Amino acid sequence: MCKYIFVTGGVCSSLGKGIATASIGALLKSLGLKVFTQKLDPYLNVDPGTMSPFQHGEVFVTDDGGETDLDLGHYERFIDTSLSKMSSVSTGKIYSKVLDKERKGTYLGKTIQIIPHITNQIQDEITTAAKKSECDIIIVELGGTVGDIEGQPFLEAIRQMRYKHGPENTLFIHLTLLPYLAASKELKTKPTQASVRELRSMGIHPDIVMPRSDYPVKKEHLNKIALFCDVEGRCVIPALTVDTIYEVPLNLQKYKITEIIAEKLKLKKNKPNLTEWKKVVKMIKAKKTKLKIALVGKYTGLDDAYLSVIESLKIACYHEKRDLELIWVSSEKLEEKDKKTWRDLKKADGIVVPGGFGTRGIEGKIMAAKYARENKIPFLGLCLGMQVMTIEFARHALKNNLITSEEFDEEDQKAGEENYIIHFLPGQHIGRAKGGTMRLGAYDCKIKKGTKTHKLYNKISIHERHRHRYEFNNNFKAPLEKAGMVFSGMNPQSNLVEIAELKNHPFMIGCQFHPEFKSRPNKPHPLFHGLIKAAKKKR
Ligand code: GLN
Repeated sequence: MCKYIFVTGGVCSSLGKGIATASIGALLKSLGLKVFTQKLDPYLNVDPGTMSPFQHGEVFVTDDGGETDLDLGHYERFIDTSLSKMSSVSTGKIYSKVLDKERKGTYLGKTIQIIPHITNQIQDEITTAAKKSECDIIIVELGGTVGDIEGQPFLEAIRQMRYKHGPENTLFIHLTLLPYLAASKELKTKPTQASVRELRSMGIHPDIVMPRSDYPVKKEHLNKIALFCDVEGRCVIPALTVDTIYEVPLNLQKYKITEIIAEKLKLKKNKPNLTEWKKVVKMIKAKKTKLKIALVGKYTGLDDAYLSVIESLKIACYHEKRDLELIWVSSEKLEEKDKKTWRDLKKADGIVVPGGFGTRGIEGKIMAAKYARENKIPFLGLCLGMQVMTIEFARHALKNNLITSEEFDEEDQKAGEENYIIHFLPGQHIGRAKGGTMRLGAYDCKIKKGTKTHKLYNKISIHERHRHRYEFNNNFKAPLEKAGMVFSGMNPQSNLVEIAELKNHPFMIGCQFHPEFKSRPNKPHPLFHGLIKAAKKKR
């Protein structure tokens, strides 16, 4: 029978609930348990697929094509498991399912209400995910903060789960904030007390309280929280701000969190094997020289919009005894010939053009690709980045500066002219242009032997995750091959281009998929690893 752990947050958002959830997952996995995770988001969007990266950060894509919250990226990286659409549940998704059933008459004419219909649907999503994933433990993180109106049905649903499944099968963890008052030089526990009181007013009594703090937490604080929040002293576990997020599991374990969870949920094992984690943290904390990588994009300075890309770069750097120095380069500023922006780009040991949508800043990205090609700077193009790389190469090889993608040429789309465009033609599974469906989720890719890509992956058959509408137009394959581009990865079913690389260049590779979703702290992704190795050599 599956056990359920629920993680809630109080006082304010951005406490690192996702990292805490992922860390607990990692610890439980190292007990030898099969762990699945789920994020419940109280917003009304059906999924984050259409939400702006400005507001919501990157969209994390699962193997089965789920467009999900970036917290799933933390879960996958920490727990090293593949999640699915079941891992992402929003109020919008719940309501649309309930309303569908209502239209179909499933409720036999009853009045549909938040309790029990919405709360039952929430519980159904949780128990179904637990069953279908065949996990031993499912960790369910509730987005938002206790006290939010939107979160209430979720709290009621998990309260009922405790009632139905019993205390041996359910555990509540509540993350709060310990603010530091500079004037009196002290940490304050009152917001934590208030937040736990709020939670208890909803009928949920936390088993473990994790106060987040930027400063060391003394025993007296922990005791105070225990007494006023009515939790056992050993169950108040500080979530300290640390140098690297990958240290969080080790920090929590200093307070024997797995032993507490194992005891409460009657698990057989309670001592995790943390050798691998200790190795990773040691590697990260070792003194290293810097490596400058330019990220040429639209959302400059917005870490969350490129979270998995940045994490992948950092991880690959760690494995090469380097520290990532990220240089944000605005592609629009490159277009405007902004001097500082160009200077920044030229400082870089390697260049990444990440994914993106729409025409804005495209020419700047093409300029960055041209600069990388001509100056032999290691370059990695991710999804849109591969499209940009092939457009740039086509312009150069075919001596036609009008070449672009159908997506970036609205005038031409309207006119119906298609003669000079690299059509990123919709493939078999793909809708066309705007409003069309996307190629989403994991697809096969066959790697050509003897290529740079083959050397990096060291295998022929790979699976990578996609999220895009346009595809490389195979009519351009032969002329570009003749000019020195190698199509080193193809989808065997549809014959779509998945990876392109340049012959006369130390490292210029573009992939139509998003490799960033598959990096793990102990296993850097081959393409990112390749980029970092090449950038290191360039120095
Ligand atoms: N906008 C491009 C497309 O739809 C690339 C998408 C992406 O980079 N994720 O094909």
